[in-house]
Amino acid sequence: MTTRRFELLTAAALCLGTACRDLRAQAVPYLGLSARAVATIALQPMDNEWIGCLIGAIQGEMARVDSIALLPIHAHSATQVVPAQGHHDVIGRVHNHPTGQNCWYAFPGTAVPSADGVSFARSPYPIDVIVCGQLRLVWVDRTSKERRSP
Ligand SMILES: [Zn+2]
Repeated sequence: MTTRRFELLTAAALCLGTACRDLRAQAVPYLGLSARAVATIALQPMDNEWIGCLIGAIQGEMARVDSIALLPIHAHSATQVVPAQGHHDVIGRVHNHPTGQNCWYAFPGTAVPSADGVSFARSPYPIDVIVCGQLRLVWVDRTSKERRSP
């Protein structure tokens, strides 16, 4: 009951302004990446950390990612995420974990958010994506349900 109320309050607090439509606690179980977005990921040096904005749209239960706008890496570490600016159709952020470890938003078996979970909670976007290792994807939506590509 208390948790539910908190969720509703959180949703209400987020739901201000013109982007309201995208900020509901909406389940986004499907992630659709364009060939261009996949290529952008594939072209990044595998051993480097990188971060970008997901450009696209939320369509029903699917996050459609048309492209990825890479961001300067200077302020980024595994626990710090650079805010996106200047894109009106940003639906989330994406960053990688080069070693493929700790790809989670909450510590396994718990509701305790990881650094990435905290970062997502503080962001205004509907989803967040981790590229885990080479091209395995882990993402989360505002229902806080974590999802993984096969
Ligand atoms: Zn991370």
